[in-house]
Amino acid sequence: MNEQIKAARDIITGYKGRPIRIMEVCGTHTHEIFRLGIRKLLPENIDVISGPGCPVCVTAVGYIDEACWLALEKNCIICTFGDLIKVPGTEMSLAGARAKGAQVRPVYSPLDAVELAKENPDKQVVFLAVGFETTTPSACLAAKQAKEEGLENFSLLTANKTMPNAYNALVGSADAFIYPGHVNAITGNAACKKLCEEKGVSGVVAGFTANELLIALAVAIKLLEKGEPFFKNCYPRVVKDEGNLSAIKLMDEVMEPCDSEWRGLGVIPMSGMKLREEYAGYDSRIKYSMPEIKGRPNPACRCGDVLQGKCKPSDCKVFGKVCTPLHPVGACMVSDEGACSAYYQYSGII
Ligand code: SF4
Repeated sequence: MNEQIKAARDIITGYKGRPIRIMEVCGTHTHEIFRLGIRKLLPENIDVISGPGCPVCVTAVGYIDEACWLALEKNCIICTFGDLIKVPGTEMSLAGARAKGAQVRPVYSPLDAVELAKENPDKQVVFLAVGFETTTPSACLAAKQAKEEGLENFSLLTANKTMPNAYNALVGSADAFIYPGHVNAITGNAACKKLCEEKGVSGVVAGFTANELLIALAVAIKLLEKGEPFFKNCYPRVVKDEGNLSAIKLMDEVMEPCDSEWRGLGVIPMSGMKLREEYAGYDSRIKYSMPEIKGRPNPACRCGDVLQGKCKPSDCKVFGKVCTPLHPVGACMVSDEGACSAYYQYSGII
């Protein structure tokens, strides 16, 4: 173990200050902190809580209902990243819709959906555009390519979200945030710095290896001890202050900010992205004159509280009993990045 990592581990395990809460905003961080055994190093006075950084988890129930409507009522082929297929909607998941005859295809990229549309000119193909700044550029690229090629049988059902306004909604939830390195690699650091300067919100940007997470945690602990708000980029090999300018330009060209509903957090103003007017023909809601569809979450599910750090997955009454990865009641048990799934896999109940 090199000296820097040993020092970071000693700072974490030797912390004797006031109780602190650190929110790992990103679902991948949640899983890695469990998987790498970092949670076992934490003394009792450091509470690491999960946040809303899993794109599948924060997608509202109504969005699943919209996708099922397109699949069953409009006979569209639904293309989606695999996780979303098992997320429960109000009455059914996309897996349930598939059991009723809907065509639901897992894809690895939005461009796969464009290809499928080209191969099936007599079918309508819808890509479920869900995700943060990390995946939104690829959805924009798909819309752009479809428009350039004049594809008329392809559209996107958008639920893309942006992180900065979610951070605003979470102010006060934790003493410091661990910001997702892959998101900041796209957006840059300006929003996090602004939060620190204007609202006194502290945070560190972290990478995803054991060393990077240990160092980010140790830096957060040391700076919290000083008592002043801070922002620190602990992932400088990937995250630059200005972000990825090509990705930002592409998103700005194809999409624009809009209000967006987050599971558990409600509608956060200007926290989503929708297709610009020039791309209206590729917006599934407009193309199919979709009626307003309101989802109803399962009242037993506490995903909303889990995503805001208000409770731990194990505080949910159905965790590990009725709700398991094989039979998920809520989105946080479905996704590989979901907090409930991480607790289920790593907390020793299996
Ligand atoms: S354990 Fe299941 S039902 Fe409970 S909050 Fe998590 S996903 Fe929802």
